[in-house]
Amino acid sequence: MGSTDGLPDSMRAAVYLGPQRLALRQVPVPRPASGEILVRVRAANTCGTDVKIYSRGHPKFPPPFVFGHEFGGDVVAVGEGVEAFTIGQRVTANVFAECDQCFYCRRGQGNLCENLVYNFGAYAEYLTIPASIVQRSTFVIPSHISYAQAAVVEPLVTVVHGQGLVRIQPGETVAVIGAGGPIGLLHIQMAMANGAERVIAIGHSDARLAVACQLGASHIYNAHRVDTITAIRDLTGGRGADVVIECAGTKVAWETAVEAVRKGGRVLWFGGLPGGTKVELDAARIHYGEITLYGMHGGTAKEARCAFELITSGAINVSCLLSGKVPLEELETALQSMIAGEVIKMVIIPNQDLG
Ligand SMILES: [Zn+2]
Ligand SMILES: [Zn+2]
Repeated sequence: MGSTDGLPDSMRAAVYLGPQRLALRQVPVPRPASGEILVRVRAANTCGTDVKIYSRGHPKFPPPFVFGHEFGGDVVAVGEGVEAFTIGQRVTANVFAECDQCFYCRRGQGNLCENLVYNFGAYAEYLTIPASIVQRSTFVIPSHISYAQAAVVEPLVTVVHGQGLVRIQPGETVAVIGAGGPIGLLHIQMAMANGAERVIAIGHSDARLAVACQLGASHIYNAHRVDTITAIRDLTGGRGADVVIECAGTKVAWETAVEAVRKGGRVLWFGGLPGGTKVELDAARIHYGEITLYGMHGGTAKEARCAFELITSGAINVSCLLSGKVPLEELETALQSMIAGEVIKMVIIPNQDLG
């Protein structure tokens, strides 16, 4: 065992084999190609995307697939030509980076890039960061921030992007549907940072809504007990919220968001639905009400830098999203507790000797 560069030849990795089928496998430790860096993973956070991959697969990533994409770790090797990073640095990175060349990148819409390079494989002892991501959205973690806190940069990039679309104005009332999940809790904080006067948080778990309350949501409602549209309209003189942010990722939540926004308001559909899903909307409400609807995906490298600064400066509390730490063997249980709504995010520790 052990090759000439001092790194082991094989490592443990959690491999996705098909819907609700995971296995721990021994796989080769990758070596960094030109422009890449190799990271020993110290923390890998669970995420809604992982839950989707685990539950139903992902058309872009057929099995067998080593997944996990929110990570922090130590640089243990650098590929040829890498100058910005050195062995021993603590780093995190976004899950993708744009090409800077294509039609969309030239228009500042790098999140829609035709040549996005992805970076999965964090549920393993080691992973390589592709050159494009090394160049654009890999960050050195300052000593006061933990690996797991830094890893929240990935979901926060998307929240920064979504908030950039709806442009909350000081004094506005913002409703967040699906507020108890990690994305909802980040949106609540960003909405307040952007000047929202009131944030109405709607979710399904009292425990998670209590976290929304601690983070400053002015009103919390459990959608099991209260009708979301009525609750939001009652608080806003019957008009609806200025901005509604949907983070539940269900057809009903997409439709509810449009019913709960005021005339002239903005809706952000943050939570993705499976391809082919049709939603039913009242066209007259959107037309005569001048309602603006935003879909969205990901974020740009510039937004990734902004998100990382929000974490390192302490402007956004990311610790409240981290519900506990478990070894790689317990990844499947961790994903199931996310599905059950028992935890917000779990921190997976692939290298147990470093946990
Ligand atoms: Zn994620
Ligand atoms: Zn591009």
